[in-house]
Amino acid sequence: MASLEPPALRAPGELGAGGAPGALRPSIAANHSSAYTARMDFETSTSLAHTAPLLRRWNARILGNRPISPTAYEMTISREGTPFGAGQLITLHGRELYEDRNYTIASGEHDDFLQVLYRVIPSGVLTPQLVKMPVGADIAVSAPCGEFVLRDRNRPIVFIATGTGIAPCRAYSRTHPDLNLTVLHGVRTMEDLFYRDEFARRPYHPCLSADDRLGLKGRVTDFSKNFTFPEGAHFYLCGANEMFYEMRDILRDKGVPQSDIFTEAYYYSYES
Ligand SMILES: Cc1cc2nc3c(=O)[nH]c(=O)nc-3n(C[C@H](O)[C@H](O)[C@H](O)COP(=O)(O)OP(=O)(O)OC[C@H]3O[C@@H](n4cnc5c(N)ncnc54)[C@H](O)[C@@H]3O)c2cc1C
Repeated sequence: MASLEPPALRAPGELGAGGAPGALRPSIAANHSSAYTARMDFETSTSLAHTAPLLRRWNARILGNRPISPTAYEMTISREGTPFGAGQLITLHGRELYEDRNYTIASGEHDDFLQVLYRVIPSGVLTPQLVKMPVGADIAVSAPCGEFVLRDRNRPIVFIATGTGIAPCRAYSRTHPDLNLTVLHGVRTMEDLFYRDEFARRPYHPCLSADDRLGLKGRVTDFSKNFTFPEGAHFYLCGANEMFYEMRDILRDKGVPQSDIFTEAYYYSYES
């Protein structure tokens, strides 16, 4: 797919996007990248003006739905020209009302399809439905939205993810091959180092909390304490909300201003 117009940005929670618990009203969400960041007192350094287009919901064709690790799947759906910015999310809809959830787009802006990476939550509402959806079936999808997009591509980017929080990083990486991107990925075991091969040519630091096959065992926060980050970087944090608190303190001690930290929370708990 050739070049796309910049997408109209829409915050999660606006115009009914997503069924994530705790979705914010637009007025609150405006300065935060996700529904949850306001509670963290994380500020974005820029206030992105976003419009309020009519909600677009369509039935996408499932082109692929495969296990990508023992605990996660990758779903590929038809894109049908849908514009989006790397870092934005779509909402996937389940059988019933309120059975919809947000998923960051893991594919790049130039890919002809949309991909999401999802952790299977056996006791969850939507993901047990998603795993059963066959290739060729349709799934209801709401238009891309969200503000976890790159603020300044001229700055070094440090992406710190836990678990499936690596999805927006992959979208950045695929969309902008020349990005000065350093990746720190915290997971429990090696099998959950999603898209590891795609990050091979970048500074990439896997952190395994329950697996010593790579030599070191520890959380991404443990690793970060002794890591020398690039000067003048912007930091993008994504995944379990709890990681953000610890990272905020670590980065503050290293002299990183809070205005250089951007967050996208998927849920409240530790994943890695
Ligand atoms: C902005 C945003 C973007 C998101 N993007 C993604 C994504 O790209 N990939 C993805 O897998 N999830 C993502 N999520 C989480 C997703 O929306 C769902 O919450 C998740 O898939 C569980 O849905 P469920 O209906 O199966 O379980 P639910 O019944 O909604 O949730 C059950 C419990 O599962 C836990 N949980 C939720 N998400 C995860 C997760 N990723 N890993 C481990 N535990 C979790 C929570 O504690 C939750 O209370 C995102 C959430 C938000 C708010």
